[in-house]
Amino acid sequence: REREMSDLRKVNEMARDFFHNCLTMTSYGQAGKAYFAGRSISMETIEEFKLGFAPNAWDKLSTAFSKRGVKQEFLLASGLAAERNNGGGLYDRFRNRVIIPIADERGRVVGFGGRVLDDSKPKYLNTPETILFNKRKLLFGLDRSHRAIQQAGYAIVVEGYMDAISVFGAGVKNVVASLGTAFTVDHCKKLLRYAPEIYFCYDSDEAGQKATIRALSIVRDTGAVVKVIVVPDGKDPDEYIRKHGADAFRQLVQKALPLVEYRLKYVLAHNNIDTLEGKVKALHEMLPVLAGIREPAVRSEYEKKLAQTLLLDEGVVRTELQHFA
Ligand code: ATP
Ligand code: MN
Ligand code: MN
Ligand code: MN
Repeated sequence: REREMSDLRKVNEMARDFFHNCLTMTSYGQAGKAYFAGRSISMETIEEFKLGFAPNAWDKLSTAFSKRGVKQEFLLASGLAAERNNGGGLYDRFRNRVIIPIADERGRVVGFGGRVLDDSKPKYLNTPETILFNKRKLLFGLDRSHRAIQQAGYAIVVEGYMDAISVFGAGVKNVVASLGTAFTVDHCKKLLRYAPEIYFCYDSDEAGQKATIRALSIVRDTGAVVKVIVVPDGKDPDEYIRKHGADAFRQLVQKALPLVEYRLKYVLAHNNIDTLEGKVKALHEMLPVLAGIREPAVRSEYEKKLAQTLLLDEGVVRTELQHFA
């Protein structure tokens, strides 16, 4: 198995170079270059992340790699190619997409993400699960960011690798992205090896807010200190940086909300607290959050704040909390 893993890593490395050359050195790459330029991704970033392009053809990579002596079984096991239905050889998984190589913590290429150049679907295609590529454990960017995470004392987690690339480009280097799956306990443990705090910076759309709430509940019992970076007006970090610049983003990071305050903000935004029903619902949604605060002084502060916000008697909040716990 070790042998198989190291063989697959080599194939992946070859593929990274193939896609990267295709982008930077061939005429096919023009479409990919234009796409990256349209997103303001610089040549420097393209080189730094070894971004690439998969040509608009069925088997360019499979054919090239077969000629170079790569066995079919490796092309299949790496997820770079799949078998044609009619039994007539292989076809490339990634076609006509810009390519983002995905590395493990040690910087070894374990898979790829591919994005379409337009609005067609699926927008993203990733390497399927292989012996190297486990989305529940991998965090994009960690190979480049772990030192900065250690230095800063916290890691910033974003939704997509395009966000991570943008944030990195903005000079904020303690960033990782999950790979289109929910944040897992494994992700959390991995980050806690470098720093005790995790700042979530997901998209500010409804899906991103829901994902933030889920992520917060995942990390709750791990002892991580969590904060949430709120990106205004429905954007994701990448769009925000492109529109408002790196400094504005750094200010958002500085204004990250502690877990409890983010939950309160969320609960207030999702309930009409002008009605009694809304108030009670908001209160009940906040009880588990308050109950999770270990420090009595802090908990009592937030009890007060919640009571004031909901225009409820502080004693009522305290009693409800006692019943809850
Ligand atoms: P872009 O800015 O390129 O449009 P994004 O990074 O903002 O994309 P989102 O749509 O916000 O992407 O999704 C976040 C992440 O979820 C993506 O980076 C990708 O990993 C994953 N994802 C999104 N759509 C798909 C899909 N159709 N299939 C697989 N993964 C996806
Ligand atoms: Mn999203
Ligand atoms: Mn985006
Ligand atoms: Mn997004």
